[in-house]
Amino acid sequence: MRVYQNVLEMIGETPMVKVSHIDTGPCELYLKLENLNPGGSIKDRIAVSMIEAAEQAGKLKPGMTIIEATAGNTGLGLALVAASKGYPLQIVMPDKMSAEKVNNLKAMGAEVVQTRSDVQKGHPEYYQDMAARMAQENGYFYVNQFANEANVTAHYETTGPEIWQQMQGDLDAFVCGVGSGGTLTGIGRYLRKQNTAIDLVLADPEGSILEPLVNRNETVEAGSWLAEGIGEDFIPDICDIKLANKAYAVSDKEGFHTARELLVKEGVMVGSSSGTLIAAALRYCREQTEAKRVVTLACDTGNRYLSKLYNDEWMAAQNLLEE
Ligand code: PMP
Repeated sequence: MRVYQNVLEMIGETPMVKVSHIDTGPCELYLKLENLNPGGSIKDRIAVSMIEAAEQAGKLKPGMTIIEATAGNTGLGLALVAASKGYPLQIVMPDKMSAEKVNNLKAMGAEVVQTRSDVQKGHPEYYQDMAARMAQENGYFYVNQFANEANVTAHYETTGPEIWQQMQGDLDAFVCGVGSGGTLTGIGRYLRKQNTAIDLVLADPEGSILEPLVNRNETVEAGSWLAEGIGEDFIPDICDIKLANKAYAVSDKEGFHTARELLVKEGVMVGSSSGTLIAAALRYCREQTEAKRVVTLACDTGNRYLSKLYNDEWMAAQNLLEE
């Protein structure tokens, strides 16, 4: 048993578990448990790589304030890194994100600004535009996971190789969502380099612009959805969306109920984006006519959604409970 010198060393090398009590058709479906990172999500990986890349490039100097636009998990990863390296942290997040994430960030010493969820890129109150403006006005270091190559690098160098090794080089498909596009681009490029035939499958919330683009090369207006951390109203700079060769649009209802089913049947408690990913992965698996080995991600812990998808009153108020 390894003893770690600090919590940052515990990021990555996450376990993988087979889905064994839910119908996966002729396929084997494996979940990589990114919820077991010390900050509770896959975003711990990019927090370390983006901060260290900025330090090495001389863009982030001792004492500078770090600012980031995030659905919350990148903020929580950055809070771990900022605390251990002594940087003050400012977080800008849309107001639809769970109270647990906001409280968790504040408890870790971050300052949190919540802004509108109902505006899109280009609007002054859009979370990313707000973070960029605050950085410029105050001389903060804006991490910008949506345009930061170190986000992709983290997944190309760690998550991708771990998946390949855990699957012992025998993998047919990988299913993921796009928030910043770091996982799709980093893991996708790595896996395709090992085997060009691997299916890269996008799991997208209904209302996002990505699924129509991947499946039908169609440009649509963005709608709204409740899943947190995935789905887009624009294509992030670092996102190589052409890597995805198939996509599924998943409703909030399907995604949230899949997360609940996973907890009850498999004992794994994940958040709303993972519900979307697993719902898409199950659809992919059940559509296959031959046995395939499929991997998807448990992106973050479900503990931060106890007031939402695991709460019957909240689910009923959103019209998401089944009759
Ligand atoms: N799931 C959750 C819970 C997230 O917070 C994010 C990132 N916002 C993602 C998935 C998407 O990952 P990526 O940014 O690498 O596309």
